[in-house]
Amino acid sequence: MSEPLVIVGNGMAAARLVDELAKSALGRYAIAVVGEEPRLAYNRVLLSSLLADEVAPADVELRPARWWRDRGVTLRYGSRATAIDVTARTVTLADGGRLAFSKAVLATGSRPIQLGIPGIDLAGVMTFRDIGDVDTMRMRAGPGARVVVIGGGLLGLEAAHGLAKAGARVTLVHLIDRLMERQLDPVAAGMLRRAVEARGVKVLLESETARVIGSRRAEAIELKDGRTLPADLVVVAVGVRPNATPAADAGIAVNRGIVVDDHLETSAPGVFAIGECAEHRGICYGLVQPGYEQADVLARRLAGDDARYPGSILATNLKVSGVDVFSAGDFLGSPGTEPIVLHDPGLGVYRKLVIAQDRLVGAVLCGDNTDAAWYLELIRSGQSIAAQRDDLAFGRALAMRAAA
Ligand SMILES: Cc1cc2nc3c(=O)[nH]c(=O)nc-3n(C[C@H](O)[C@H](O)[C@H](O)COP(=O)(O)OP(=O)(O)OC[C@H]3O[C@@H](n4cnc5c(N)ncnc54)[C@H](O)[C@@H]3O)c2cc1C
Repeated sequence: MSEPLVIVGNGMAAARLVDELAKSALGRYAIAVVGEEPRLAYNRVLLSSLLADEVAPADVELRPARWWRDRGVTLRYGSRATAIDVTARTVTLADGGRLAFSKAVLATGSRPIQLGIPGIDLAGVMTFRDIGDVDTMRMRAGPGARVVVIGGGLLGLEAAHGLAKAGARVTLVHLIDRLMERQLDPVAAGMLRRAVEARGVKVLLESETARVIGSRRAEAIELKDGRTLPADLVVVAVGVRPNATPAADAGIAVNRGIVVDDHLETSAPGVFAIGECAEHRGICYGLVQPGYEQADVLARRLAGDDARYPGSILATNLKVSGVDVFSAGDFLGSPGTEPIVLHDPGLGVYRKLVIAQDRLVGAVLCGDNTDAAWYLELIRSGQSIAAQRDDLAFGRALAMRAAA
């Protein structure tokens, strides 16, 4: 008889896990997936492109309903898991239903961080996490609308771009002295700022929001230096926090995220966590690829292999059309590393490659991402680049020819 496996969360990591389990352990588990959002799992990464009208709604669907059915998966979407009992081995749903499990996987993702400033609860202030947020932004930020986006990381930039493309007058406010400081060095961040401003987004750096002004709705934001920026819509994109509440309530060990070991197992035996809600070796990843790698390892584990997750190398691609920005690994260069830099301001191309002991350990590309996948592969594989080093900065074609 199939073992009951309940997956809490119907997002990207959960969909990948089901996909992999269907390949390696079909029939071994009776899988039920519980999802709070009232729809099938979708590609959250594409929401920025959906907002910018660069993909159609149908493009974000990960798998059609039939795909889940064909794999015998019981889908409970539009249904929040309210409690997990790791002793009785049940998951309770908001509608009162209860699912028994032998093994459970928590894949509850993250929640956007909200600023603790006055006025944050006014209508017209929102975060950007799900498909409903795209609908809201589209409705509220048509041509001419004044929008303030708070946060100059990946999400804030993509939201600002999408809204500016829809005709809104967008100001992006960022606390730090450069955009995407967690992924870019100062040179690349400066190039990015100019490219984004050329697309109609006004950028204010080193600016801290003091409060949102308005009586019933947001009307403006006030910065700490006293400036006010009129706003019909305020989008807060200042980061995410792992959604670990269901696990913490169940008595499972939680630090920033749900603590897992190299088997992706939580402190409760037979209960696992993957994706943005998980914390592995002290790291909570905020990107999809680590969640996919965790799902792959866990599927192998659930199929009976002794698979272990060693951690992931982070890589980021900004999805703002016409602005090619890529960053991976140790992009700033820790002590003892050597940077190779190619910078052509005239062409708007910047490449910084960080080398440690004849291995590529980090990269920042701006203006031309053609070789991003190759550089990422070199970082991930850890192979020696000694033979290609002379031409490494000039891209794959030249470096491979020279090494041949
Ligand atoms: C606009 C946008 C752009 C992004 N762009 C990129 C990008 O370019 N590259 C990249 O790597 N990453 C990007 N990300 C991040 C990426 O989407 C996430 O890393 C990925 O979705 C994480 O997958 P997950 O399965 O862990 O979480 P999610 O996809 O968030 O899925 C978690 C699901 O669990 C559900 N859930 C939570 N609690 C419960 C509960 N108690 N009961 C039932 N269901 C519950 C949630 O509603 C949600 O549907 C982007 C995110 C956004 C919002």
